[in-house]
Amino acid sequence: MVHAQTFAWKGRVPLQRITTSTRLLAVFGDPVEHSLSPVMHNAAIADLGLDFVYLAFRVRPADLRKALDGVRSMGISGVNLTIPLKQAACELVDNLSDDALDAGAVNTVVNDQGILTGHNTDSYGFIASLQEDLGMSPSGLRACILGSGGAARGVAVGLAKGGAARIAFAARSIDRAAALQQFISKRYPSCSIEVLDLADKQHLGRVLSESDLLVNATPVGMYPLVDRVVDLDIECLPQHACVADLIYNPSETVLIRSAQAKGYRAMNGIGMLAHQGVRAFYLWTGVLPDVSVMRRALEECLAGS
Ligand code: NAP
Repeated sequence: MVHAQTFAWKGRVPLQRITTSTRLLAVFGDPVEHSLSPVMHNAAIADLGLDFVYLAFRVRPADLRKALDGVRSMGISGVNLTIPLKQAACELVDNLSDDALDAGAVNTVVNDQGILTGHNTDSYGFIASLQEDLGMSPSGLRACILGSGGAARGVAVGLAKGGAARIAFAARSIDRAAALQQFISKRYPSCSIEVLDLADKQHLGRVLSESDLLVNATPVGMYPLVDRVVDLDIECLPQHACVADLIYNPSETVLIRSAQAKGYRAMNGIGMLAHQGVRAFYLWTGVLPDVSVMRRALEECLAGS
């Protein structure tokens, strides 16, 4: 059984004065106890001295329409959406940004006087983290992505949009990967998309040997099953290649440890989480928060868990 983890911020609590003018931001999800968004956004609010507060609400899928009506009627400035609400929200907001259309999911909702626009900030978060943590730009890149779920789609869209040369999805569910291939090829025709069966080790080895970046977009290795790793031969990667594991808990997965032990540079998912939050915060407030403040809050919280 997988136990949900709850996080409490043991750092400084933002001692802001809540008044009738304080504006509300929130995350909706079910479950929502595991969400690190309140920690990260309240740290940015405190750092900037803004008159906002960010809370978490458990919203069941069947109640999402009512909850979003509540956002409109109560003038909540914006919300994040997490599992399992992100896809359903596409039908319930008034407008969708290009990023949300690309992702097929909404993780950020902006309320402009009762008009709700759905955005998706995951692609932005991944590409910003790739640049900050590994100094890599997507232009011309050959990437191999493990998985074909929501995160794989977000990463692939970000890479394709940024000019990646080739993306290979190594997936357990070939049908899901083929649907992604079709979607991304149509939207970004200059990026070549390949699909392969994760179980076909020979094919995977060949693809890895022609990749500059390996991305784990599966939950394999995530808390609490931290000793798991997708079965592959990391040494097939060329020596200049980098590894990105989207998992942030634990901060060092078996994949990251084994990549680093073989001399590859690697990053975890904390940077992506922080940067997608930066973008959401900017969309809500018009103020660009300090990513290092948000990142530190996340790291402190995860270290204390
Ligand atoms: P998802 O939509 O459920 O997709 C999960 C993918 O992983 C699917 O392709 C699934 O294959 C595959 N998978 C699951 N278990 C597997 C296994 N044992 N072996 C091989 N493949 C397996 O989940 P998601 O939202 O994409 O999230 C994926 C990971 O990314 C999670 O660890 C999540 O925490 C992380 N993530 C991080 C960030 C961040 O900001 N750092 C953001 C989003 C997600 P099937 O289709 O066959 O089930």
